[in-house]
Amino acid sequence: MEECAYIGLGSNLGDRELKLLMAIAELGKLPGTKVTAVSLFYETEPVGGVPQDDFYNAAARVATALKPLELLDHLQRIETEVFKRVPTVRWGARSMDLDILMYGDLVCHSDRLTIPHPRLAERRFVLQPLADIAPDLVHPSLGRTVNELLAALPVAEKVVRI
Ligand code: ADP
Ligand code: MG
Repeated sequence: MEECAYIGLGSNLGDRELKLLMAIAELGKLPGTKVTAVSLFYETEPVGGVPQDDFYNAAARVATALKPLELLDHLQRIETEVFKRVPTVRWGARSMDLDILMYGDLVCHSDRLTIPHPRLAERRFVLQPLADIAPDLVHPSLGRTVNELLAALPVAEKVVRI
């Protein structure tokens, strides 16, 4: 059975635009997976207090036969093998960050995986690209749409369309 999932992409090292494009191509190569929508690309300021360069962020929708943990395994493999992501401080610079934002209307919480992504509703750099491809998608535990969550964000962290 196929599910519809949303992936958040971010990079702030090297050629960030090319890296987003390469990561989208990698998503399309995953077994049983098709990329069905891609957001615009945004330049965004880092959150979390670690001084570092601005990110490029995007979101993609996929139709996938992979189970959530299989999808996470693949995303982490792409981060490490394709983008040579190296362990760093939490919220530090990264060549590529691939997060599962939503997976159907699944709500789950385990050591390795929390869906919807735990910081989805607080982050403009996630909600803005997601709103391009899924404005009316309802967050299954908050019961609000992506557009509503975006409108409710308190501070305007920098998120600029490139
Ligand atoms: P972040 O994306 O929050 O900046 P990392 O990419 O370093 O941080 O991820 C840290 C851990 O988050 C990963 O080891 C992964 O197991 C866990 N994780 C929990 N939920 C998710 C999710 N929905 N998508 C991706 N990773 C997740
Ligand atoms: Mg991540």
